Amino acid sequence: MSFCCGASMIGVVGTLKHQSVKVHHVPLLCCPVCNNIVVHPAVKEEFDLVVEYAQEDRVKEITLRETITPEMLVEWKEICVSFQGDDAENVIREQIDHSLDLLSTAKILNDIDWQDDLKTRLKVLSARLKEFEQHKESSK
Ligand SMILES: [Zn+2]
Repeated sequence: MSFCCGASMIGVVGTLKHQSVKVHHVPLLCCPVCNNIVVHPAVKEEFDLVVEYAQEDRVKEITLRETITPEMLVEWKEICVSFQGDDAENVIREQIDHSLDLLSTAKILNDIDWQDDLKTRLKVLSARLKEFEQHKESSK
């Protein structure tokens, strides 16, 4: 599990620019709080190789996986609590539930730093959820 800002990061398939090579269809892990982004550990080695080859061939833009199957998504999801598909709102709800669970664990452990991280996280996530709800309200 990859942790950042007190809890697990969110999986997402996206584009990442690395050493001036733009790579598409990369499973990434991103932190919903500080927006830190890392390549999913399951493809890290493959990603580095692809970038290396692209640099040798002077290719500026490549695609890591031509097709992404549901099986891949299941595998990638194993490491993170949420994987962002089309339902971003649901992911935020999942993350809030998860953070609340962790917060009670942090309280039992008396881990003040972790509690603070989680409280900040919950603040950011609830603000984002509110935005979604307001957006829904206004598009009715
Ligand atoms: Zn973070």
